[in-house]
Amino acid sequence: MAVLPIRITATGTVEVSHDDHGGSLPLSSLTFAKRIDGSDDPRFVVVPCPGCPAVSTHPISGGAAPEHVQRLFMRLALARRAAFGATANAGRAAVKRRVRLLVGAMDGAERWKLGADDDDEGDAPLDAATQNETEA
Ligand SMILES: [Zn+2]
Repeated sequence: MAVLPIRITATGTVEVSHDDHGGSLPLSSLTFAKRIDGSDDPRFVVVPCPGCPAVSTHPISGGAAPEHVQRLFMRLALARRAAFGATANAGRAAVKRRVRLLVGAMDGAERWKLGADDDDEGDAPLDAATQNETEA
């Protein structure tokens, strides 16, 4: 089973599930896969399991968990705009368009799971409904 990002907190902690265990790690610690020339490929993120040596590489289109993975890529793109071809002062909607274009280029437009018109989120966490849960 893949190492899955299941939630990202407002402060940038990625909660990860893997088989019967999981854990958390900072968003800033995630890396992109490398192209053959050694440069980062922001269409693929490498997610290590905090609880064992397993590592999963997820495509921006999301593979078997498109909603979770696309949310992770949105947060990555907001934190690392230049890697996704957005300018440093690009707004959330512009960043989202970049991510959506990359998803569509990889797997077709119908793969997009984050909603076509939810820019009214403003700067709210992508998973606001669960942000106040206590730590397990
Ligand atoms: Zn594990």
